Amino acid sequence: MTARRSPYDGSAIVFATMHDKQRLADDSFAELLGATVVAPEHLDTDQFGTFAGDIPRTLSPYHAALVKARLAMQIAGVPFALASEGSFTSMLGLGVENTELLLFIDSERGLELVESSTMDWPLPAGGPIHSVAEAVAFAAAVGFPAQGLTLRAVGDDGLAIVKDIPTLGELTGHVERALGEGGAVTLIADYRAHRSPLRAHRIRALCERMALRLATPCPRCASPGFGRVAPERGVPCAQCGRATDLIAADIDGCGVCGHQVRRPRAVSVADPGYCDHCNP
Ligand SMILES: [Zn+2]
Ligand SMILES: [Zn+2]
Repeated sequence: MTARRSPYDGSAIVFATMHDKQRLADDSFAELLGATVVAPEHLDTDQFGTFAGDIPRTLSPYHAALVKARLAMQIAGVPFALASEGSFTSMLGLGVENTELLLFIDSERGLELVESSTMDWPLPAGGPIHSVAEAVAFAAAVGFPAQGLTLRAVGDDGLAIVKDIPTLGELTGHVERALGEGGAVTLIADYRAHRSPLRAHRIRALCERMALRLATPCPRCASPGFGRVAPERGVPCAQCGRATDLIAADIDGCGVCGHQVRRPRAVSVADPGYCDHCNP
């Protein structure tokens, strides 16, 4: 008899994606949990909104992930699902911030886990293009064609969107044509996971975190997925003793029985610079 690596050993977990995200989870889920990650057939995730803006996003990232995960479970007929949502927020001239959220659902145990990360997006986001030279410079700056680009052109026939442009030659061809028609032309980075190596890298890192978490049993009920659920703020100010916003401890929790463990951080007092009272 061989020992089971995890409660998911030998199980199939469906990743709600049509952009090959299952490949980003496959290694860590196989290695740490013994699970196989698959993509559902015929799942149209674009119906919940696209980065290119041709279909607006109406749900919050968390709810979009939840709806996609449930739909994928239904299509694939398995009780376990992953779904991820990325969002990009423009910081008013201070660059772009990328938040990635990864959701895991185990409908047998009633378990729902979220891992997320927020980081600066180091590549230019794109904007209006007035010449082919500008398009070529932007393509070089983002690392096209590994990082994909989407062209949006507003002409007489309304908005035209071109995705999946494979080469610089085809890109300049599209740009030339669109500029020739006299409309407004915009080039934006394609953030879909299979067209964005940096985004794929970040989703892969979240998948590893999720697999590690699922490999961690709750110390009380032994359910999988014990891990950090929230920070506890309130390190006291060194000068006045009032609670500041600094994180005093991390709280690990179980998504099934609710058991929590507090892990204090190695700080006992906060610099008065963090204090709303001493440094308003
Ligand atoms: Zn103070
Ligand atoms: Zn528990």
